[in-house]
Amino acid sequence: MAIFKLKNHIQNYAWGSQTSMFDLFGFENIDNKPQAELWMGAHPRGCSMLEQLGVLLTDYIHQDANDILGTYTAQRYGQLPFLFKVLAAHTPLSIQVHPNKSNSERGFERESAQEIALDAINRNYKDPNHKPELVYALTHYKAMNGFRPIKHIIALFDELGLPALEYELSSLKKMPNSDGLQRFFTALMTFSGKKKLAILNELQGVFDRSHMSDRLQQALTYSKSFVEYYEGDIGILAPLILNVVELEPGEAMFLHSETPHAYVKGTALEIMASSDNVLRAGLTPKHIDVQELIANTRFESIRPEQLKLTPISIEGRLNFPVPVDDFAFDILNVEPIVKEQYARSAEILFCIDGEVKIWSGDMSLNLKPGESVFVPYSASWYKYEGRGLLARAYN
Ligand SMILES: [Zn+2]
Repeated sequence: MAIFKLKNHIQNYAWGSQTSMFDLFGFENIDNKPQAELWMGAHPRGCSMLEQLGVLLTDYIHQDANDILGTYTAQRYGQLPFLFKVLAAHTPLSIQVHPNKSNSERGFERESAQEIALDAINRNYKDPNHKPELVYALTHYKAMNGFRPIKHIIALFDELGLPALEYELSSLKKMPNSDGLQRFFTALMTFSGKKKLAILNELQGVFDRSHMSDRLQQALTYSKSFVEYYEGDIGILAPLILNVVELEPGEAMFLHSETPHAYVKGTALEIMASSDNVLRAGLTPKHIDVQELIANTRFESIRPEQLKLTPISIEGRLNFPVPVDDFAFDILNVEPIVKEQYARSAEILFCIDGEVKIWSGDMSLNLKPGESVFVPYSASWYKYEGRGLLARAYN
């Protein structure tokens, strides 16, 4: 069974960087378009192609799913269960929440029964799947992930002293728990007209205050950068409520379902369950369904020190443990000695850095940075040597 070099689709979303993928991987960008996401996988909105065969990955898989995905994955998912991406954000992406599995199933069924078209703007559920995500930074990477501890939220707003938010803040102080956080967040998400304007004006009025705590200063740096692109958007308040997190290259974090998060700036690898279910919570010109959003948000804080994943070294590979079984993610350190890896499932390997020779059976491929290879489950094993780093997506 052969292994295949992939030809991948680039999505030119408006928030993407025009230069990052060229700088890191030499991807040509003749039209100077934003190169936002490179998709590696079998998703219908951007399926990879097997270079040697000139066949779409999804068509190839359907020739013999049991063989190519392994019987367990083929029976359980019927397709490649994960989507692997390079993501290069130049401007902030919308704040979002991904529903959990059972709500996704119910929501998908409900909206299908209501005959809302899959591509309609008011369609929330595009498939019945959840969408946990892992992000592995390739450059310095800024993001927001999960609610801050409530006492930090209170301290930040106390320090700011926004008169227009006095009532909501004092309610949160009386109820510093999950219910209080839900009320506070819901109030912010539903502000409109004069009240919203007053809060945003008061906030922008303190941007250049000379003395403030480090935590507030960091949060306001994010808010300021949001004003540049999303003036008048309530998401400008989000860095005061959500954890801001900065990853250095080689660091990773997990994004749970039902947890508000946003990617702000930087280039990273991202691996997720193959789904497109997104509920938006600001920093977007798109429609926000507040009720659906609240119903799919878990109002629990994440302590900032719990955000980054601690990798585990197993048999020469670095595994980033995730609490889902839709995907797994490793970093393989490639050295001038032959290493062997058993294919646990169908796998996609992406060359981050260096030069790597990879082979299986009598098929051998050379990978440069930015190149990727598909290993069918039935290949059973592959060997690699050279010098560099491989990212490994499997399940
Ligand atoms: Zn997301």
